[in-house]
Amino acid sequence: MTTTSTTSADMASIPGSPNSEAPKIPRRNPKISMGWLHTAKFLTTAPELKHLPRLEVPEIAFVGRSNAGKSTCINTLTQQHRLAYASKTPGRTQSINLFTLGKQGVTDAVLADLPGYGYAAVPKEAKYRWQQVMGNYLMTRDNLTAVVLLCDPRLGLTELDEILLDVIRPRVEDGLKFLVLLTKSDKLNKTEAAKALQIVKLQAGGGDVKLFSALKKQGVEEVAQHLWDWAHPLVKPAKKPKAVSETPPAEDELPEIMEGEDMDADADADVGAIQSAPDTQATSRPPETN
Ligand code: GDP
Repeated sequence: MTTTSTTSADMASIPGSPNSEAPKIPRRNPKISMGWLHTAKFLTTAPELKHLPRLEVPEIAFVGRSNAGKSTCINTLTQQHRLAYASKTPGRTQSINLFTLGKQGVTDAVLADLPGYGYAAVPKEAKYRWQQVMGNYLMTRDNLTAVVLLCDPRLGLTELDEILLDVIRPRVEDGLKFLVLLTKSDKLNKTEAAKALQIVKLQAGGGDVKLFSALKKQGVEEVAQHLWDWAHPLVKPAKKPKAVSETPPAEDELPEIMEGEDMDADADADVGAIQSAPDTQATSRPPETN
């Protein structure tokens, strides 16, 4: 498998390499998990699976439709204004972007930001290519430990999200952690939030579903703790995840993730506005082009 331009200095700090050593850190402390997430650094961008470096540390993937609030969520969790927006800069869109996490320069986990799907303006060919890359990634990435699916509760889980759930279901049965975040929860009142939680829990087959608001900071510490726990299990998993095929599945074996769904018009506050003016009114803007 070929690798990207990731330097050996980047890799040297990853456990499994000769000069790495896992620091001993107490559990269940929001300061610890938030501090840990704040260490996030861009590692590499991979337009295809073969460009992803092979890593030993747990990898947590963020997936969701365009405009679901994925970049804002990653930036909020890592307390960095522009980290995930790096994923939206030319050359890094339509790519898997990896960010390392770890205190004292020792990488002990990686966040993977996968491109948003369902954006109507993306040409069919690009959608199809991404269908392959994303399906392959979710089915075969060896160190994939958890998937966070972001969903705008006003839309609920869409057909594309449900297809993605089907793709990862066998791995979830094999121990892959899975969490659905209902983003922008500040836009819902209590009754709407409770209803959205109930519906999506059912749709997600009883999986873990949480409300999240970057604007109101709802769910931030709780999600940070989840990520920390996934990356630092008390007991090491006895066996590796199953789907570890060297050769990605043939194209016609893959379910269609990107096929024919248009992006619903959305009316959201701009991220900049969220960060600078918490109670800003929603303004219309087209979905991001990723
Ligand atoms: P992505 O395409 O999934 O990366 O979505 P973005 O993070 O770019 O967010 C899409 C839109 O939703 C932007 O206009 C954000 O300002 C808005 N947004 C994201 N998170 C929140 C939130 O917690 N509350 C509100 N009100 N808007 C949000």
